[in-house]
Amino acid sequence: MNLILLHPSDLDQQGYARISDPRRLAHLRDIHRATPGSRLTVGVQDGSMGKAQLIELTREQAVFALDSLTDVAPPALPVHLVLALPRPRMLARTLEHVTALGVKEITLLHTKRVEKSYWQSPELLPEKIQQHLILGLEQARDTQLPNVILSKGFRPFIEEQLPDLLREHRGLVAHPGMPMACPRGISEKILLLVGPEGGFIPWEVEKLLEVGCEGMHLGPRILRVETAVTALLARLF
Ligand code: SAH
Repeated sequence: MNLILLHPSDLDQQGYARISDPRRLAHLRDIHRATPGSRLTVGVQDGSMGKAQLIELTREQAVFALDSLTDVAPPALPVHLVLALPRPRMLARTLEHVTALGVKEITLLHTKRVEKSYWQSPELLPEKIQQHLILGLEQARDTQLPNVILSKGFRPFIEEQLPDLLREHRGLVAHPGMPMACPRGISEKILLLVGPEGGFIPWEVEKLLEVGCEGMHLGPRILRVETAVTALLARLF
């Protein structure tokens, strides 16, 4: 946690913040080895960042006196990531990585090779998703929570959502074996589609290309979803 992420409800009117959840308290104690007087980087969820002084640390709570928080969060990546829903543990890690890298729009999509049972996983509960996003924000020193949408039908996504998204974004489908190599140094808005662990089926790739997406590859190595997403974002931007 390179940033202590505060919820607006942690703040009072007098410029103090109080946290009482075990995760952040344990982190302050065990990783930061913070003691009263320590100055730490803090940020308010969806707001600004700056320094704060720890003035009290007990088993029950930590109290901070905040400087005026004037630093702005780092810029977001101009990308909407459409990720075929991976298995729960991979999802957790991927959400954390892409949040740390600056992705703010994430759609989790059903495709043929996504196991139906994944949609029942407790990892998809809003509070669980939020936990992973928060870990990514704390890691990267960012405060802007990404927006995560669940899209449980491939066909409705293609027919109802994709055409609108492609009006504002250049659509790129990551698929091994496509003729075009993944572009580099992009500044336009990208809709990046990444397949499930078993890949997109040929029919899905065909549909995506039909509505106006471009297929692209990352070289001959087949990467795991979390590695592929990280490599794609790094190369694109
Ligand atoms: N077994 C599948 C690959 C699945 S990898 C197949 O052979 O098609 C999971 C996802 O990561 C893929 O659907 C793709 O979106 C992305 N990916 C992994 N390696 C890639 C590569 N070399 N080029 C393009 N996309 C890749």
